[in-house]
Amino acid sequence: MRKNIVAGNWKMNTTVSEGVELAKEVNAALKAAKANCDVVICVPFTHLCPVAAAIDATVLGLGAENCADHKSGAYTGEVSAAMVASTGANYVILGHSERRQYYGETSETLREKVALALENNLKPIFCIGEVLEERENGTFNEVVRCQVEEGLFNLSAEDFGKIVLAYEPVWAIGTGKTATAEQAEDMHAFIRGVIAEKYGKEIADNTSILYGGSCKPSNAAELFAKPNVDGGLIGGAALKCADFMGIVSAF
Ligand code: PEP
Repeated sequence: MRKNIVAGNWKMNTTVSEGVELAKEVNAALKAAKANCDVVICVPFTHLCPVAAAIDATVLGLGAENCADHKSGAYTGEVSAAMVASTGANYVILGHSERRQYYGETSETLREKVALALENNLKPIFCIGEVLEERENGTFNEVVRCQVEEGLFNLSAEDFGKIVLAYEPVWAIGTGKTATAEQAEDMHAFIRGVIAEKYGKEIADNTSILYGGSCKPSNAAELFAKPNVDGGLIGGAALKCADFMGIVSAF
């Protein structure tokens, strides 16, 4: 059966020393109180090596927030999936709405990134979600269906089975505005149905679908209680150990 996962997305926050301290704190908290879900932190590229050295990979997973859409070569400033994997990381967030919006990531580039991540044994946490206008004009299901189909449905069933999805309504990211547990559940059930149409019920049932968007200790339990919500991708609240652990302990 699918795993429950709580993954932090630190975005462009913390210096290396601050990040190592935070990772150590989370690691220690997880050792003190065993989590009932998998826990992952996704950190800036600069932090991957020192954080990998500071944590125990058996209690805390590590991921990057992005990777390049090329294997290697003359792409100044880019970081490849192989480089990410060589740090000891085992996850990578792909298709975050901030990358789609500010860096022009398209389904086409994301297909390349997903393929390279999988080739390097990184588990993609693939983000999808509608903007406010699409929520309000009622097109949100079709927008999300398109993102899933265009970004992922070129994969074999075996490779699709390695993907973690994160539904992140863009209007709820960093805004303090959370989707209601019912809105999240409806969308997650819809996404699972879309996956089942293509890959069958078993693969759909085995796919972890996380919710992201202003998730915090006070709303995590209600969200995670929904049958199709398999955890969270956490931005702001992942930057304080107590808040992050408050969300982890919602399972
Ligand atoms: C995110 O950016 O992935 C996210 C969910 O952010 P926040 O929790 O801050 O809304």
